[in-house]
Amino acid sequence: MNKPGLLVVDDDPQVLAAVRRDLRSRYREKYTILSAASGEEALSTVRELKARGDALAMIVSDQRMPGMLGTEVLARSLETYPLARRVLLTAYSDIDAAVRAINEAHLDHYLSKPWDPPEEHLFPVIDDLLDAWQADYLPEAKGLRLVGHQWSPRSHAIKEFLASSLVPYRWRDVERDADTRALLDAAGVAADSLPALFFEDGSVLKNPEPREVAERLGRSLSAAHDLYDLVIVGAGPAGLAAAVYGASEGMRTLLLDRHAPGGQAGTSARIENYLGFPAGVSGSELTRRALTQAQRLGAEVLAPLEVTGVSVEGGYKRLTVADSREVVTKTLLAATGMSYREHPAPGMAERTGAGVYYGTATTEAPAFSGRRVLVVGGGNSAGQAAMHLSRYAREVHIVVRRDGLRETMSHYLIDQIDKTPNIRVRALTEIEKVEGRDRVECVSLKACSGGAGSVEEADAVFVFIGTRPRSEWLPAEVLRDAKGFVLTGRDLVAAEAYPRAWKERREPLPLESSVPGVFAAGDVRAGAMNRVASAVGEGSMIVWLAHEYLKLI
Ligand SMILES: Cc1cc2nc3c(=O)[nH]c(=O)nc-3n(C[C@H](O)[C@H](O)[C@H](O)COP(=O)(O)OP(=O)(O)OC[C@H]3O[C@@H](n4cnc5c(N)ncnc54)[C@H](O)[C@@H]3O)c2cc1C
Repeated sequence: MNKPGLLVVDDDPQVLAAVRRDLRSRYREKYTILSAASGEEALSTVRELKARGDALAMIVSDQRMPGMLGTEVLARSLETYPLARRVLLTAYSDIDAAVRAINEAHLDHYLSKPWDPPEEHLFPVIDDLLDAWQADYLPEAKGLRLVGHQWSPRSHAIKEFLASSLVPYRWRDVERDADTRALLDAAGVAADSLPALFFEDGSVLKNPEPREVAERLGRSLSAAHDLYDLVIVGAGPAGLAAAVYGASEGMRTLLLDRHAPGGQAGTSARIENYLGFPAGVSGSELTRRALTQAQRLGAEVLAPLEVTGVSVEGGYKRLTVADSREVVTKTLLAATGMSYREHPAPGMAERTGAGVYYGTATTEAPAFSGRRVLVVGGGNSAGQAAMHLSRYAREVHIVVRRDGLRETMSHYLIDQIDKTPNIRVRALTEIEKVEGRDRVECVSLKACSGGAGSVEEADAVFVFIGTRPRSEWLPAEVLRDAKGFVLTGRDLVAAEAYPRAWKERREPLPLESSVPGVFAAGDVRAGAMNRVASAVGEGSMIVWLAHEYLKLI
């Protein structure tokens, strides 16, 4: 196989030569620099690359070209190379068009001409996009292969773990992929040992737990120190931000997650409203960047490791982790966010992981190519999931009890959904029952207005309703509101139980809970804004507050 390609498209021979020259000067060792003088020529190059089995890492296209605009070239190459990064070259006067095209062409970046000096305006952008592509791309013959049954909850758990740990892998369905039988026979893996994870060196893990996979991948699950300045429980946006600031300010910082870094945001196909990412950013990409940053600055990260309890002795917080070991810290941040409530309809619980999925459209979406799926819920997370699924599934139905999405979903998502022909909104409707032999095969829908219901074929139900805070691991002394969200700062002072719970002479610091030195940030906190940016903001504040607390004791 040849080196991955970087394709440049421009009808102006001088500009084309200049981009080629700059890209060759820096990337020719690892990539083949290809060029095309028109949109048609570019699409035929893309087809040829595919036919040869070569990878394409990036397409950089000029916008204004006779015959075909750059945005169309980028959009049309998406089907052949969905992972390739897309960059539009624009003149200053075309920036509005580039911004409008972000959704249609799935643009990753636009570059204004001229970009001199390239060291400042071109290479940092291209380096960054190529790093992101490398993180997603897995050469055909290399890397991890996971073999299992599509409808097995165990397979789903390992897929989820690998995807959220940012480990590229190839999924092989024993029932659909013809080559899997030979692979299993050669390795002596019996049908009842699935899923099986095949490593590059030929070794196999049969029906593993996520923890075993983490250990086999060389991830440490033991804390390196006896005592920490700051332990952060939960590696969603709030926890990751706290880890970046804690480590960069020289605190001995440990970050733990029961699953893998990323949290709810990590499951999002595209976050469009996080500052500084005009083309949107996927949850996995944001997580990859934040995790790399936290680790580079010196934070220790352990996952999957669940914290099951905390006791407080003389200012020290003693955490019990899932394997009964203990971790001791001076300050503790609860950043454990929220998780979705289970859907109460009969048939849902027994098919979880076998066609019923909670808050996780990105991992499973490709398996539902050409199929009919339902998304339950009317919030932004449901809207994003429906948009992502619509790229694969034949039909996507959004089931909501309200009369529409207006009150619960952002305007930009409603617009995108309206323009997507294979998404249908089923307003005033709810799921009554889910049926199928050992997976989801059909659903009974009920009209909330009391009208006639229907029984419909469905291959999967993605649930995005009702959330609950993950605060059950905190001790009873940490005051919570009636729903279980942690009370902090002023909300804590206003609580009826405050005088009984708070025995310090000072007032609680902002984001401090009723136990001195135990803070809460992000979605687990009462009054949180439930947004990535606010979770990151609160997580970033914690380090300053932890320093204040340490000065007081
Ligand atoms: C699909 C989806 C799309 C979204 N899109 C957007 C968007 O476009 N824009 C936006 O602003 N917001 C969006 N949100 C909301 C946003 O993701 C959340 O507000 C944000 O992730 C909250 O961050 P957090 O760090 O507080 O908690 P979380 O992201 O919930 O992370 C909490 C972490 O704690 C871990 N944890 C829980 N309990 C324990 C324990 N006992 N021990 C160890 N670890 C534990 C969990 O595994 C998890 O990783 C979206 C949410 C979803 C689900």
